[in-house]
Amino acid sequence: MIVFQLNCGKGHNFDIWFKDGASADRQLARGLVECPDCGDRKVAKALMAPRISSKSEKSPAASMTVMAKQMREQLVEVRRQIEANCDYVGDKFAEEARKIHYGETDARGIFGEASEEQHKELSEEGIEVARVPWLPRDDA
Ligand SMILES: [Zn+2]
Repeated sequence: MIVFQLNCGKGHNFDIWFKDGASADRQLARGLVECPDCGDRKVAKALMAPRISSKSEKSPAASMTVMAKQMREQLVEVRRQIEANCDYVGDKFAEEARKIHYGETDARGIFGEASEEQHKELSEEGIEVARVPWLPRDDA
């Protein structure tokens, strides 16, 4: 006997025992296996999404924490780079971005605050603006 983790077309996960691998393939191909949750017969082996083993050192929650920490570090680094390389223009951001775009002032990197409305106007004028999640510094 062999157990396969299966997925139905609606995303349910479940385990089914088969006599052997060939038997599993045959039954799946004929649509003889149905999802115990919803009865869907569009069932496939869940090879691409291995179950996280309980033997694994890190629980899913722990790896999420690690990911969140790495993302945060990247965002802090982005902030550092921007502060080091760009001029802070505060709430004059939209105004300055336009001046740069239309060549009325020196082209340079700037950062500052813009409202949702200003951001929309800028992109409608074809002015490229990147939105950066602005994290407080760790040393604060
Ligand atoms: Zn299902």
